[in-house]
Amino acid sequence: MDLGIKGRRAIVCASSKGLGRGSAEALAEAGIDLTLNARTAETLEATADDIRTRYGVVVKTVAADVTTEEGRAAILEAEPKPDILINNAGGPPPGFWSDWGEAEWEGAFRSNMLTPILLTTAVLPGMIERGWGRIVAITSGSVKAPIPQLGLSNGARAGLTGFVAGTARQVAQHGVIMNNILPGQHDTDRIKGLMGATADREGITVEEARAAAQARLPRGRFGTASEFGKVCAFLCSEHVGFMIGQNVLLDGGAFNSTMG
Ligand code: NAP
Repeated sequence: MDLGIKGRRAIVCASSKGLGRGSAEALAEAGIDLTLNARTAETLEATADDIRTRYGVVVKTVAADVTTEEGRAAILEAEPKPDILINNAGGPPPGFWSDWGEAEWEGAFRSNMLTPILLTTAVLPGMIERGWGRIVAITSGSVKAPIPQLGLSNGARAGLTGFVAGTARQVAQHGVIMNNILPGQHDTDRIKGLMGATADREGITVEEARAAAQARLPRGRFGTASEFGKVCAFLCSEHVGFMIGQNVLLDGGAFNSTMG
């Protein structure tokens, strides 16, 4: 399917690896010029080179922490007129409710709520003026079904989801479409870290933790960054003009429900 967005420009935050990278690759395949971001310059440059070579699109890089004001300013300086914004950042650490004090909550709110809100409000005026925009936030299945050890994620991302729900309805009339993707377990560095924590907690090996987690999924395996990226690119396409403020759950069937 032609996504109808060839030649448009995207900012993809936190995109040297994992779900951000999968999204960047799928957008590049659709002919989008990219501004990629991550903190570690070396990995970021390697990813950018690979995408340039494989897809022939323009790829700019901004090695910066997206959760800082300076990092966001550098990203917006590199790409002041994005047609597409993919909001993403690292996830908070797992733990127990009593582990998290003010500093931990502030960190989670900054990474997974305030940063995407501030980037969204920075790019919205331009998108509205130009009459076209796509904003996708990578949130988590934890928004729909809480993951007890990821309480910081449950809380911060629920706040972002509320912001997107209302704002999407305010900007839709201007051709700006906002939706969220809620990943379940995908085989990235993030899941490797979480499986390590599970193994420690349960006194099993990481391989045993991975096997047990995958066996619990109806699909029998984790998702891939490539599968994720294709869905993200579709949510940035011309074809989602009537899809407003939705939360697309991509969890291999983990959330058990007849509908909704
Ligand atoms: P990942 O494989 O660990 O990749 C994270 C990417 O983000 C890397 O490129 C990393 O590069 C970059 N990054 C992290 N913190 C950053 C920051 N402050 N500023 C700029 N770049 C940053 O993680 P992932 O699995 O793709 O996860 C992406 C998001 O989805 C996370 O918020 C995660 O919690 C959420 N999620 C993931 C899953 C899953 O199963 N994978 C499930 C639910 C939710 P640098 O380290 O070099 O900055």
